[in-house]
Amino acid sequence: MMKRKKTKKIYVGNVAVGGDSPITVQSMTNTKTSDVEATVAQIKQLESRKCDIIRVAVPDEEAVKAIPKIKKRINIPLIADIHFNYQLAIESIRKGADGIRINPGNIGSKEKLIKIVKEAMQANVPIRIGVNSGSLEKNILKKYGKPSAEAMVESAMRSIELFEKMGFFNFKISLKSSDVMTTIQSYRLISDKTQYPLHVGVTEAGSYNDGVIKSSIGIGSLLSQGIGDTIRVSLTSDPMKEVIVGNKILKTLGLRDYGVDIISCPTCGRCSLNIEGIVERVSRQTEGIRKPIKVAIMGCVVNGPGEAREADVGIAGGEGYGVIFKRGKIIKKVREEEIVDSLMKEIQSMV
Ligand code: SF4
Repeated sequence: MMKRKKTKKIYVGNVAVGGDSPITVQSMTNTKTSDVEATVAQIKQLESRKCDIIRVAVPDEEAVKAIPKIKKRINIPLIADIHFNYQLAIESIRKGADGIRINPGNIGSKEKLIKIVKEAMQANVPIRIGVNSGSLEKNILKKYGKPSAEAMVESAMRSIELFEKMGFFNFKISLKSSDVMTTIQSYRLISDKTQYPLHVGVTEAGSYNDGVIKSSIGIGSLLSQGIGDTIRVSLTSDPMKEVIVGNKILKTLGLRDYGVDIISCPTCGRCSLNIEGIVERVSRQTEGIRKPIKVAIMGCVVNGPGEAREADVGIAGGEGYGVIFKRGKIIKKVREEEIVDSLMKEIQSMV
């Protein structure tokens, strides 16, 4: 792990992003923002899985009007996501959004961008310059021929220069591509050029399985190079999964304590238990636990006792039974069909 690059610290509501602040996990709701009840319910669920900052789509006036109503009922900062319409960005700031995300490539003109920045400056609200490889400015695309890391960096640099010229420094940057290597390259380039905090993610990463792989490689390799201050995993799936995966990426890199860590054996011919089924059930039943707990589920006596002893809770399997360990000590031997319940009971006693 390389030392984290020191960026400028900004605040999205009361959550710090950049500098020496912890790396945060973001997600985006997939409800209609104008449906306040559904949006609040989803954000509450996401909060419970340790989502630090939430973004909502603001495609129309109705969504703008919902912002203060939603904000009143949630505990994490809310970012308004704006495309095309600069007026919606201005109104979102006026309605109390803690931050706005704009894509300079589709906001229309420099004049409109200036108007947004003036409003953000006055309200002390940060902006994310969210460059996306799929919506670069036409003249940049013409210059580079196709979306590339260099093209995305140039797009971001244009906004950065404009913002700085206006005396506005309260912003973060994202450069997202659906191509993992382009994403990595873009962030590396921009990280060499600026000190502003970086929101890291691979966009349109795909289905759950593909998205997890792409995001883990993209976000994981950047973070391990010390690049990135806040992350969002994009999945064509439930935002809850985005938050869980985001937190697990941070946990895997040792950047956050989060939830139950299951160590399980890959199984082999020595295994006489349905380890796959046990792991699946324990994994499902522990999904909502945020406290860091290490659980070992091992098929036999070869590595089983060793791993089980090292974990907070563990089992080492035998022929139709499992030996349960808790904090290094054997506490009981149970039949196969009782393993999951026994493990869950011990895990719950630690939560
Ligand atoms: S713990 Fe036992 S069953 Fe599991 S992979 Fe190792 S040797 Fe095979």
